[in-house]
Amino acid sequence: MAAFSFRLRLGQDDMEIRGDLPEPGAPASEMVPAYLGIGEVLLEASGKESEAEGKIPSCGPGCGACCKQLVPISRSEADYLRKIVIPGLEGGHRGRVEARIAQAAEKLESAGMAADLGGLPSEQDRVKRQNLGLRYFFLGISCPFLEEDSCSIHPQRPLACREYLVSSPASRCASPTAGDIVPIVPKVKPSGALIRTDRHTTGTEGWTTMITALTAKDVPDDRQVADPQAELGYFLSQLGRD
Ligand code: SF4
Ligand code: SF4
Repeated sequence: MAAFSFRLRLGQDDMEIRGDLPEPGAPASEMVPAYLGIGEVLLEASGKESEAEGKIPSCGPGCGACCKQLVPISRSEADYLRKIVIPGLEGGHRGRVEARIAQAAEKLESAGMAADLGGLPSEQDRVKRQNLGLRYFFLGISCPFLEEDSCSIHPQRPLACREYLVSSPASRCASPTAGDIVPIVPKVKPSGALIRTDRHTTGTEGWTTMITALTAKDVPDDRQVADPQAELGYFLSQLGRD
């Protein structure tokens, strides 16, 4: 591991960000804790700014309607969930998560959606993504990590989950077509920066959905990161470009 530290400015906030990078040649999944740490600091600062503007989140523990949505994640986060997070779950936690993944896979298969999720529309094709997202939401598949309406991997959850906040009443989240959900749009989206980083480094779209990643049968090997510092630099250069 190699420590890093740098300063970033977001609005009025001048932040020092610290973390650790894996050694050159490490699997991409081992870069993810650094990205999550940076994302957490930035999103906390963004949340404070939004609150100063009067945008108060309704979100909190025990509130999981949004965890039935199709969550876009980067390829690196997909590897992280499959190869680090799930194998590291303790006690009966891993078994419960794996059972819910199997149930979700069956439901997707019987609804004829498994193939659609395998051939995802381009990240830029927002209309197709929204349509796919609505079809998925109405299948009512809770995220396999949701337990008692709370995220059971909260410190390790993907960046997109951290970015999703609303100021409208929580009760409205159960019906996303109602048009009366008021999202709190973050000032910066680290999830987009990481997807662009994976696109740049892999030559693929750089993203998938969490349920696709979890239910996939043929999982390719984790790619190796030749130069973690350079990859972190690319990620930082992509912040604020959404
Ligand atoms: S987005 Fe809606 S369902 Fe999700 S935590 Fe916030 S208020 Fe609750
Ligand atoms: S990872 Fe956690 S926050 Fe994200 S959708 Fe799943 S349960 Fe919800």
